[in-house]
Amino acid sequence: MMPGNPTIWPISAALGPQGQLMIAGCDTLELARIHGTPLYLFDEATIRQQCAAFRDTLAAAYAGETQVHYAGKALITSALVQIIESEGLGLDVVSGGELYMAQQVGFPASRIHMHGNAKPMRELREAVAAGIGQIVVDNLDELAALAAITTEQTTPQPIALRIAPGITTDTHAHIQTGQHDSKFGLPLDALPAVVARLRTAPGLQLVALHCHLGSQIFAHEPFAQAVAVLLDCAVQLRDDGILVQEINTGGGIGVPYIAGQQLPDIGAYAAQLAQAMTAGCAARGLPLLRLAIEPGRAIIARAGVALYGVVGRKVPPSGQPYLHLDGGMADNPRPALYGARYTAVLAARPAAAAAGLVHLAGRYCESGDVLLRDCPLPAATPGDVVALAAAGAYTLSMASNYNQVPRPAVLLLRAGQATVIRRRETYADLMRLEMMV
Ligand code: PLP
Repeated sequence: MMPGNPTIWPISAALGPQGQLMIAGCDTLELARIHGTPLYLFDEATIRQQCAAFRDTLAAAYAGETQVHYAGKALITSALVQIIESEGLGLDVVSGGELYMAQQVGFPASRIHMHGNAKPMRELREAVAAGIGQIVVDNLDELAALAAITTEQTTPQPIALRIAPGITTDTHAHIQTGQHDSKFGLPLDALPAVVARLRTAPGLQLVALHCHLGSQIFAHEPFAQAVAVLLDCAVQLRDDGILVQEINTGGGIGVPYIAGQQLPDIGAYAAQLAQAMTAGCAARGLPLLRLAIEPGRAIIARAGVALYGVVGRKVPPSGQPYLHLDGGMADNPRPALYGARYTAVLAARPAAAAAGLVHLAGRYCESGDVLLRDCPLPAATPGDVVALAAAGAYTLSMASNYNQVPRPAVLLLRAGQATVIRRRETYADLMRLEMMV
């Protein structure tokens, strides 16, 4: 059992015979020695448990049809797409690149949805050519572009409308997306224009209404409010002769990163959504529409642990020491982007008492590259390995080669076995696209 808040570590995390951090029966220090650091570890059991929890809990809570899509933007790798496929979930992509990866893996096109507020024409064409399950239309220009692309379609391309429902949530402004003035989604008063456009778009079929309120949302009430707004839109469309089949409330359910934060109560979340749908459809004279959700973070955050090597230390005049780590904002930009907080331990002794507070400094050339300020840690010296919990979501998927540092390797851990699912980049990889003049 891990000390502190165990719910931020993978379900298989434990202390080994020397008190070191073990995940899925693998010794993390050993993995750091073999594969180097920074290193990202993913516990397959945690990923599968989260997929099953959302899939089965939603299905049990709601009498209508349900669908869970994994939001690939949180993390996408070929192996992860295979796991998502085998768990029977759908996959949300936000670019031609993500779609291409899904196609390479053989993910069924019918279970792919494409999102994005600025999908380039080329990527819209790719999505239509791939025959994906839904393109989630974000604005009227995109609708016009899609109508033009699909005029010759014999089978209409299913689309959803992403609505900006005017619901604000208690989360960081940078990850809030449901408000009226968000860059995402159609304003509510755009529906008549959509209906008019669809009348001359034989290659499109509107099948779903969608919204996404933001990320790291702990309350369930906003999701129920979203159902009501979308069902009102469904009624408006019905009155114009369009019957949608699905309501999709997006992702956004919050997960714990630090002590005191709770695991999402998927049962309560599903029950609130189901209740809002059941009562909402009945009150509006609608059939029980399909209910879809798109968790990303809640499926992948907890499964991931990042290992960093301690490279050096600095004690500034203020007295609060820095531990310099061999990774940072290029593999995990969240702290620099929006002050995200994490929990860190020494992989050799997660249960050891803290000797004081340190700042965990990233290696990149930005003063803002501090992965974690005021982190309680035992005394650490160069060569020690720091493990960062809940590092699976919106870290590697936003990684860069800033300072020309190769990106870390990624391992999938299962029953004492570690499999490299993305190899560490090399200097040769960094030069691969370069041309000299
Ligand atoms: N769906 C959409 C449309 C999104 O934009 C996002 C995240 O930005 C998600 C789902 C996943 O959100 P989360 O990872 O917070 O569950």
